[in-house]
Amino acid sequence: MTPMQRWLTLLASALWCAAGCGTAAPEDVASATSDFSVMDTQGRIIVYADTSALCSAAREAAMTRTEAIAALLNRYDPASELSAVNRAAGGPPVPVSRTTARAIADAKRLCRLSGGAFNPLVGSLVGLWKRCEAEQRLPTEEEIGSALRVLNIDDVEVAGLEGAAEGRATCRLARTGMQLDLGGMAKGWAAQEAMAKIRRCRGVRAALVNLGGDGVCWSEGDRGADGAETAAAGGSWRRPWRFGVQDPRSAGRRVLLPLEVAGAAAVVTSGNYYRYWEIGGRRYSHILDPRTGQPVDSAVVSATVIHPDGGTADALATACMVLGVRDAMALLERLPGAEGLILEASEGGLRPHPTAGFARYGRVKNLDSGPVSEGEVLP
Ligand code: AMP
Ligand code: MG
Repeated sequence: MTPMQRWLTLLASALWCAAGCGTAAPEDVASATSDFSVMDTQGRIIVYADTSALCSAAREAAMTRTEAIAALLNRYDPASELSAVNRAAGGPPVPVSRTTARAIADAKRLCRLSGGAFNPLVGSLVGLWKRCEAEQRLPTEEEIGSALRVLNIDDVEVAGLEGAAEGRATCRLARTGMQLDLGGMAKGWAAQEAMAKIRRCRGVRAALVNLGGDGVCWSEGDRGADGAETAAAGGSWRRPWRFGVQDPRSAGRRVLLPLEVAGAAAVVTSGNYYRYWEIGGRRYSHILDPRTGQPVDSAVVSATVIHPDGGTADALATACMVLGVRDAMALLERLPGAEGLILEASEGGLRPHPTAGFARYGRVKNLDSGPVSEGEVLP
């Protein structure tokens, strides 16, 4: 096993590394790994660089950036900028950092990109379902109706991002009751930002930022989306990063499908089985359908999305859970740079739905022979 062949399981509760993780770096580069708690989950940063000192500097920069973003965008922390924006809903614009403004502007863009399936304004609905869980009752039609009335993404206004890089931006939620919740994209978005910091550091050759299973990786030699020069050409540390899609049925966090990613990409999985509300003994997914206000209740058990941008991959994975197999596949196939694998529960096993280009990252067998049973999708 080479040092660059590490396994990472891609679900929030299931950060997992098998043999190869943290083994000694090859002679030509140094490596550093940090595990830390952030955004209610486990974070892991791995950096390969020319010297140990350069590794540590890059790793520190990435951790600092991740923690700063977590503090800005946590809607459950009254001191966060996102909370200030939410509190002022229906009032005047709120001054925010450019980072917060960029995150909110990206969330708006991703809402439109996903046809509204990813909608960061689900905050009001999330609050309602949480409250109902505490009171052990289902929301009334009126309650759902009022939460649905504050989901118009055009009512989110971001200003001050254009022009000079300095200075404050503002954000305004035009209607009372609107609540932003960036939980559906924050981890992927923060991982991407952390990776940007790492890539600005001197002497870095390869890196991975994994926030609770949402991973962004990069290896030197990558020349961007055209993939003209990939990480495969070069020294041993240039081998692809390896990820594992978790078997949604496995409490033991079994890897169902290994993926290899050369160069730069984000790999994010969303699932409806590891976080839920429980009301009257029934489980309700924490992912809500912005069209109905109801928790998603489809046969899609997980959606893994690979995209050059972490925030986009994260938002799209959440959107795929909402859309169901057919529309999710159509969305991923339509978007340049996006690949994905939807796992659908069906009688007798899991039915995998990979995009046409997914084979570049992992081989899914038995697609034509109907539903697969445990183990069968392993290449
Ligand atoms: P993820 O694990 O990335 O799919 O994110 C799930 C979280 O995103 C939930 O816990 C909610 O905070 C939030 N969320 C739920 N439904 C949606 C939705 N349709 N669009 C955007 N965010 C959502
Ligand atoms: Mg997501």
